[in-house]
Amino acid sequence: MEITDYNAFADDCIEELKALQDGFAKTFDIAYADWFYNQATGLLTLSTDGTELNFKYFQVGSFSPKSETWMWSWHNENTLENVKKATRLIRDFGKRFNFVKLTEGQFPSDEFEAWEFAAIATKLASGIGVYRPVDTDGLQIFLVLTEFIDSELANTIKDKYVQCSTHDYRRIAFVCQHLNFTTKVGFEESFETFEGMKLSDEDDFQAWCAECEAIRFAENGWNENTMAFTQIRVVCEGCYFKMKAINLGH
Ligand SMILES: [Zn+2]
Ligand SMILES: [Zn+2]
Repeated sequence: MEITDYNAFADDCIEELKALQDGFAKTFDIAYADWFYNQATGLLTLSTDGTELNFKYFQVGSFSPKSETWMWSWHNENTLENVKKATRLIRDFGKRFNFVKLTEGQFPSDEFEAWEFAAIATKLASGIGVYRPVDTDGLQIFLVLTEFIDSELANTIKDKYVQCSTHDYRRIAFVCQHLNFTTKVGFEESFETFEGMKLSDEDDFQAWCAECEAIRFAENGWNENTMAFTQIRVVCEGCYFKMKAINLGH
């Protein structure tokens, strides 16, 4: 396809998306489904009684009927990086072909155009469909689904995350009962960590205090005695690195 005219390109993308959506609806019978999406896991879960479908997604952007504006996710500070980085490809594509609507972060728009943006995003990212939840304020959120995930893998992914009252959904981390947000008690780890780092499937964030370390040393490693003293608890990644920062004196 020769890409020179924005409107013609957008029309083609809309046509392709319509075909995709028809196929999607036939493959996954999602009528009347409940939806739940989670920026941390990057998973959209559609469910009806007894069945659950999981998809990987990225968030294209959102359309506000109230303010009649569109906002690309790369421009949205409230959208987590892992579900918005794909939208930079759309912006780069827009820059290359001088399609202004793909390069401005936020501007007046309408629902039809929002679907065009979602269709373009689907095309450029080879998505398998679009899902559009509407939040309680009426904000329309456009998600491009990139991959179907079987429930076993979905559960493995979900198990790596925890909901925190401060940080919402973040990766799971483990600390001893003594680590806290106010006093320095030492911060020992099994490997060097930093916030947002990639972890292999076998690795978890794990930290314990100086006292736990002393007992672990005396006992030659983890055993029933050390574990009883340590009393590992689950925190989120955000809380983990807050504790680390306090102990390192930042
Ligand atoms: Zn401890
Ligand atoms: Zn937290």
